[in-house]
Amino acid sequence: MNVLVVNAGSSSLKYQLMDAGTREIFAKGNCERIGLDRGIFGHAVQGEAKVEEEALFPDHRSAIRTVLDHLSELDIAIDGIGHRIVQGGWHFSDSALVDDEVLRKILEVAPLAPLHNYGEAAIIEYCRERFPSLPNVAVFDTSFHMSMPAVASTYPLPREVCEKYHIRKYGAHGTSHRYEWMRAKALLGDSCHRLLSCHLGNGSSLCAIEDGQCRDTTMGLTPLDGLMMGTRSGSIDPATVCYLQREGGYTYDEVDDMLNRQSGLLAVSGISSDARDIRNGAKAGDERCLLAFDMFAYKAMTHAAAMIASMAGVDTITFTAGIGENDWSIRQAFCQTFEWLGVRVDRERNRAEVGGERVISAAGSAVTVMVIPTDEEYMIAKDVERLAF
Ligand code: ADP
Repeated sequence: MNVLVVNAGSSSLKYQLMDAGTREIFAKGNCERIGLDRGIFGHAVQGEAKVEEEALFPDHRSAIRTVLDHLSELDIAIDGIGHRIVQGGWHFSDSALVDDEVLRKILEVAPLAPLHNYGEAAIIEYCRERFPSLPNVAVFDTSFHMSMPAVASTYPLPREVCEKYHIRKYGAHGTSHRYEWMRAKALLGDSCHRLLSCHLGNGSSLCAIEDGQCRDTTMGLTPLDGLMMGTRSGSIDPATVCYLQREGGYTYDEVDDMLNRQSGLLAVSGISSDARDIRNGAKAGDERCLLAFDMFAYKAMTHAAAMIASMAGVDTITFTAGIGENDWSIRQAFCQTFEWLGVRVDRERNRAEVGGERVISAAGSAVTVMVIPTDEEYMIAKDVERLAF
């Protein structure tokens, strides 16, 4: 079954056309700078770049139109389309086959993720208009976390405020954490019950998963909460926001921009949001880079302890995404912190420059530690297969 997977961000759109059975990728590419000037369109077929050019994408509809125009030149029938949706709000605890009602709900919850859901809904609308007979499936970043117990998801704010504004912990990266659980369980079988899934990339989050159910996660009402990230602050005292507005004269937009785009690794290092730059800076003795690197690991470890407590234990830890898959030193620092729990990392395995799924814990470790490269696109394609056929 051939599925087009569309992963749209606030100003970008990535896509893959793949066989959900064999995982073969026929075509993939991206549209960058949607809604801005100097857009870029990239399109590769069977791994070979076909287009890499400047383009103008005034909105998300124009981006998906360009993608579908190029895909129509291939001799490959599309059987269904899967859409990554950032926020499913209180409506969706699973992916959903799109009809008018599902689309209405995606728009209803859009105020929780205004930079994402509106554009994603516009893409679905365009796909339905252009191919009325093709099924569209919406796959939400949040739905996996809806199994979280109330003790983890409830915000201790006045009840009527939470109800009126639908304030709770929704989390994010749910498709990635779900994939980590699926693969860990498939590989480890009965020895895997309590998984700590560590998605460490530009955006980072942890998830505590017990027998396939989310027990807790570090992102909150929005993906700003939890770990320190590339440009996002992660958890800080919320009074900082009031203080900046009251004493600093910052507007709402300025604080929003500061917390989401000018904080995290970028702010602490003073040079970059990219972990590779920070690691190089730290190696060269740059003190701000050293602090940024140590803080990233420290925040991940202290939040991990909270996640482990939510499950009253852990038997499996997985690392994924750009930093989790590639940076052995973060993994080592992380695992050493949990030696008191019986975690033993195998130094050589952890440092080996090999890709793919691999165990990095030592024989006799009380916790199995693995690197499992995430594949959200595959998960989305499988959901299309499951719900549309
Ligand atoms: P996103 O959240 O945007 O999908 P990624 O999962 O691609 O992010 O992760 C990006 C992060 O991964 C960057 O901080 C980058 O520096 C880091 N990264 C990528 N490759 C490596 C590597 N080989 N070693 C260390 N860090 C890496």
